[in-house]
This record gives sequence, C-alpha cells and structure tokens, in this order.
Amino acid sequence: MHPGRRLNVYDIHIHSRYSDGEAEVGEIARRAKERGLKVIAITDHSIEHPLGLSEGKAKRRQEEIDAARSRYDIEILSGVECGIGGDGEIAMPDFEFDVVIASIHECLPPEEYYRRIELCIKKYEFDILGHFHSNIFNSYERIPEKDAEILDMLAEHDIALEINTAHRAPPLDLLNPEKKLKYSIGSDAHTLSRVGDIDWALKTARGLRGWRFLL
Ligand SMILES: [Zn+2]
Ligand SMILES: [Zn+2]
Repeated sequence: MHPGRRLNVYDIHIHSRYSDGEAEVGEIARRAKERGLKVIAITDHSIEHPLGLSEGKAKRRQEEIDAARSRYDIEILSGVECGIGGDGEIAMPDFEFDVVIASIHECLPPEEYYRRIELCIKKYEFDILGHFHSNIFNSYERIPEKDAEILDMLAEHDIALEINTAHRAPPLDLLNPEKKLKYSIGSDAHTLSRVGDIDWALKTARGLRGWRFLL
C-alpha cells in the first residue's frame, strides 16, 4: 500500500466493541467508506487492558473484518494498541496482527516516561509509537534532548510516529523534516461519529509533504 499524494484516506487507529469502543466492526467499515477512507486499522486495546483483546476475541474480530472488507470494499487492517508497561514491555494475544501500536497510557514523571519508551523501542517489535506526548497521557514536562533521542531511535528502528487527532499529539515542534521519520495518521476513535476524524492530523501532516508515511 502506498498513499500516493492523498493522506485523507487513512485512519490507522480505531477502537471497536472488541475493546472499549462503541461501534461494531461492520459499522466502522460502513462509516469509513461513507467518509471516503480507503484504509483503516481497527486497533483495539491489548491484553493489559480490562476490556482488551484475547486470542479468541482477535479471531472473532478477524472474521468480522474479513466480512466487512468484502462487503464495503475497503482495506481493513487487524491491529492492536498495546500499553507500554513499567519495564517498557508490551504484551499481546497469540495472534498475527497487521499493525501494532505501542502507547503510554498514564501520566508519568519525565524520566520514567522516556525510560519506558526507550526500553520498549529497544526490546520489542512494533510499528507505531502512539500519541507521543499526548495531552491526556504525558510526562508533565518535556526534555528536549530526550525527545531528540526518541525520534532518532524511531528512525533507526523504522517505527512510525503517530499523528493522533484525539490526543493532539505529537507536539508540532517534533515534526522535524531532518529526522527522516515515518508517520502514521489516526483518529483514535472510540465512537462511530469519530471514525475518520483526522482533520487535525491532516493539517499537521500537510507540512510533511514528501515525507514517508507508514502506508
Ligand atoms: Zn492510546
Ligand atoms: Zn487508542
């Protein structure tokens, strides 16, 4: 898959009823199609979340994804969003996902926030760092040298930095063309009405023309 010049056809971060989202997979696909999206990823929370995906849920969700894909003629990736734990760990059910997001889901002191993300990048394989310096889950304050280190590590490990509309993340000064990062665009929708709500991300991404995107 390649975005060509159009970025307004992707939403690579959507939650369904298989975790804490409100909508069914089929409803999400229909809504995405109506909004003109071409590729979406259903990225439910992973096993560390009380409502997260188990292996059984991931399998059942896959059946719904396959059915919705052919019914609505839209590419739907089977994804998971893993919370990053105290030792930088992420965990997921025994299932082959198309896309893995790793995100911090707590507010943490800066040293701890950066430490966990660095450990996670070093020790685990994933595709996207979710909502870095989110306005909801953050590090209270930022350390510019640490930010630069994280961006370098993402580039080195070929991990995309997510532009997340719901969390207004990342801060715009982190979108540095010299870093040669990959990016991913996501609404982080938990309701049907927010599927494809990527306008803020698109405005943010317009300055990134010519840069690499995940898809
Ligand atoms: Zn998240
Ligand atoms: Zn999410």
